[in-house]
Amino acid sequence: MAGSRMKLEFSRVIQGRSRLGVLKGLGRNGQDSMEVPGCLLYTHFGTVPHLTQDTLHTLSNLPSVTQVTLSNIAEHQEVLEEFKDGFRKFAGLHDTLLYCSLHDPAAPCPTGYTTNKTVSVWGSGGRIELTVAKFMALQKIVQPDWYQSMADGETWQNNTSRKRVRKSVDRTLTHLDECLVVHQNSQELDGVEVFGVVEGGDILEERVRSARETAKRPVAGFCLDGLQTGSMDQTLRTQLIAAVTKELPEDKPRLLQGVGRPDEVLACVEAGMDLFESFFPFQVTERGCALCFDFNISPDPERAVLELNGGERDTAGETQPNGDHNLDDQTQMTSFEIDLKDKRYQDDFRPLVEGCGCYCCKNHQRAYLHHLLVTNELLAGVLLMIHNTAHYHGFFGALREALANDQLDLLKDRVLRGRGGQTERKE
Ligand SMILES: [Zn+2]
Repeated sequence: MAGSRMKLEFSRVIQGRSRLGVLKGLGRNGQDSMEVPGCLLYTHFGTVPHLTQDTLHTLSNLPSVTQVTLSNIAEHQEVLEEFKDGFRKFAGLHDTLLYCSLHDPAAPCPTGYTTNKTVSVWGSGGRIELTVAKFMALQKIVQPDWYQSMADGETWQNNTSRKRVRKSVDRTLTHLDECLVVHQNSQELDGVEVFGVVEGGDILEERVRSARETAKRPVAGFCLDGLQTGSMDQTLRTQLIAAVTKELPEDKPRLLQGVGRPDEVLACVEAGMDLFESFFPFQVTERGCALCFDFNISPDPERAVLELNGGERDTAGETQPNGDHNLDDQTQMTSFEIDLKDKRYQDDFRPLVEGCGCYCCKNHQRAYLHHLLVTNELLAGVLLMIHNTAHYHGFFGALREALANDQLDLLKDRVLRGRGGQTERKE
């Protein structure tokens, strides 16, 4: 591995923490780039759930990096070995970079199955135990542009003992060293980048040790694991991220695993994170909801309608939005979405979000989506996923725009407005 080509170039760093810039030198030819803060395109086995490639590409501003997870891929090792041409071609993906992570951020991973030498992932057929040798054999057949190193991430629960957390940090560093040895001796992985994984649970000293030691290794970037939604509150997460990022080199990207809620994303960008996974719109789609939070900060009078409409959330009725509480249950709806199964939408002839340019909002109304959901039509998932994906990636665009124009406080105000039942519900 002749040193990483991946490099972050900043256009702005605000208060020493929030970073706006471009991640350059991506892909095997080093010609690709992506803007940060940004998110990766979430997929199941290379496919954005519910969407064909054609449908997906009706959306603009899609991320240039697609995320695939070993939990999906590991059980197809033999087929991919036989196929030989890598996962990108196997899944019919063309103009995208590929990032391979260990776990699916939207699928709960049972704990208690790691050993000193192995970690486990769960596919549709059950548990698959990975050694470093098997993990690296999978990377060779997937042929991603970057991948996360093998890690023991079972310390996110807040009652994990200090001893267990220390062991997780040690094991993860050992896995990284072993992965790097195999990587450096593999022609198939020439030009592929490795991200080191920072563990440490909720123990500050272990977080700092994990970051410091990982930063000494020849990695292109860092994944921060064990800080996901449900593991801790945002105040503690912010403190841990701030301590970790102090130990990391400025010009290498930092990917935060398992955090997708807009309020948490904003706080984590302020704490120094660059990259996120985009599983949140998928979770919202699966519960029959539509993202409708407001992120419009441009003073465009034509968008005034969106402003009027944007604060509307399900803050009353049978469904209770998830405010700052109930963090443990990611299946619960949040205050950033509306529940279209609710009866009040059966005669609501507005689009999901006024002014949204997605196919769903341009062609359909809430009442039609309500009908599709209550009659269990597959099209409901397709249309919701189109809108939720467009809305979420639009939010990241607005976030970069806000950082560029010194409007982060304004954006936060827009996004957080109406949370926790503060907004009047319009009938
Ligand atoms: Zn839309």
